Parts: sequence; structure tokens; C-alpha cells
Amino acid sequence: MDPVRYAASRNHLDGAVSGLSPYIRHGVVTLAQVRDTVQRRMTRGPGPVSEKLLQELAWRDYWQRLRRRLGDRIWDNLEPLKTGHPEEAYARELPADIREGRSGLACIDAFARQLIDTGWLHNHERMWLAAYVVHWRRVRWQAGARWFLRHLLDGDPASNNLSWQWVASSFSSKPYLFNRANLERFGAGRHCPGCPAAAACPFEASYEVLQGRLFAGEASGETT
Ligand SMILES: Cc1cc2nc3c(=O)[nH]c(=O)nc-3n(C[C@H](O)[C@H](O)[C@H](O)COP(=O)(O)OP(=O)(O)OC[C@H]3O[C@@H](n4cnc5c(N)ncnc54)[C@H](O)[C@@H]3O)c2cc1C
Repeated sequence: MDPVRYAASRNHLDGAVSGLSPYIRHGVVTLAQVRDTVQRRMTRGPGPVSEKLLQELAWRDYWQRLRRRLGDRIWDNLEPLKTGHPEEAYARELPADIREGRSGLACIDAFARQLIDTGWLHNHERMWLAAYVVHWRRVRWQAGARWFLRHLLDGDPASNNLSWQWVASSFSSKPYLFNRANLERFGAGRHCPGCPAAAACPFEASYEVLQGRLFAGEASGETT
């Protein structure tokens, strides 16, 4: 755990993330122990160090506190969706091709297989996969959240459901989207080369174009 390298690289798939989540989730180490270690390492060097790693630990703490307050309501939309689509427009079940890693999209299938085979995904992979499920395939976030909880070694209803709600926009001011440029920038060059769908990549567009394609009304960027 190097707070400096973490802050500079955490969004990249080959970045210096800690891999601690399963251990924290199952009580092998407490969040306070991790926090104290991080704080010690932050004071070793001569200058100020980014607090990014501490902030991420704080997110976990916040989700846990929120869950204690909300109880089972973490399975309900905490706010209306901001995608312009009614809840009924979203499928209740996860399609089999996503679940089985055979959507035909190299990135999405690699994430799905990694989830199933190893039980761990980088934060960015979780965000990309969740956005694909909810926005491109228009599936209810709850179906994706159940799928993740079935496989993740760190599977935790608070961090998981509230993150899914953040992606879906029922617990954020706008839906989370990504495009191919974002995937290529942070994806360590792993997925696009050789993707069978490269010529018709659904992520190959600007954010404005994707918003218009995926969302309705004001959320699509329409002004009239
Ligand atoms: C859709 C989705 C589902 C998720 N489901 C879970 C889950 O079930 N269980 C889980 O522990 N995390 C979940 N996360 C949060 C995050 O992806 C993981 O905690 C992180 O990727 C674990 O890797 P790491 O230990 O290397 O994290 P690091 O980046 O090294 O961070 C250190 C620790 O901080 C905490 N942390 C980091 N990022 C977040 C975050 N965004 N939200 C809350 N805590 C964070 C974790 O305890 C993590 O172990 C989810 C995120 C998304 C987008």
C-alpha cells in the first residue's frame, strides 16, 4: 500500500491498488487498522501526500453507516433515475449472454469471466460492467447487484448496492457512462485489440452521442 502510487494510478487496471477488500470485508483487518497504516505511510516523505486512499476507505465507512440506517431499503431506488426512462423500461433479469460471458464484446466478456473465475474485479471494471448492464442493456441495477454479490469475494451489500445505485443514477445526480477512449486509457490495452466487435463497438462515441443514444428527454442532452 503506497498512498503516492495509489493516488497516481488507482484508475488504471494495472495501477497500485491494495487488493485489500476481501480481507476488510471478512474482518481479517479492520478499516481502522488500514487507515492507521495508510496515515503512517503518508507522513514518511518530505512533502504532503494525496489523501485519495484515505478517501476511498471513507467511502466504505460511509456506505456501511448508510446501510445501517436504510436496512433493506438499499435494494430500492433511493432517488428517481435520471436517465429519462421509467423503471418499467428496465428488464428484471440479467440476460444469459452477460451472465455467461458471451456478449461478443471482448471487454465485457473478460470482466464477466474474471468475476466468475476469480471473484475479484478492479473498481473501474466494476463501473464499466455495471454501466453496460444498466445503460446499454437496460437491466435493473438490482439484477446486476445480485449477480456481483453471488461471485465477489468482497461482496458486501452496502458497498455493492450503493455503488450500483451510483452508476444507475438512483443515488447520484447523473448516470455513470464510459466510452471506448476511457476504456482504452485505463484498460491497460487488454481488451480492444482483437475484439470481435471492434468494428461495431457500442462504446465508440463521444459522451454527448452516447447520452443521446442511451437516455431520453433532458438526460439525453436534448434541449427541446
Ligand atoms: C458496481 C460496484 C460494485 C462494488 N461492490 C463492492 C463490494 O461488493 N464490496 C466492496 O468492498 N467494494 C465494492 N465496490 C467498491 C470498490 O470497487 C472495491 O472496494 C475495490 O475495487 C476493491 O479493491 P481494492 O481493495 O484494491 O481497493 P483500493 O482501491 O485499494 O481501496 C482500499 C479499500 O478502500 C475501500 N474502497 C475503495 N474504493 C471504494 C469504493 N468505490 N467504494 C467503497 N469502498 C471502497 C475498500 O474497502 C478497499 O479495499 C464496488 C464498486 C462498484 C463500482
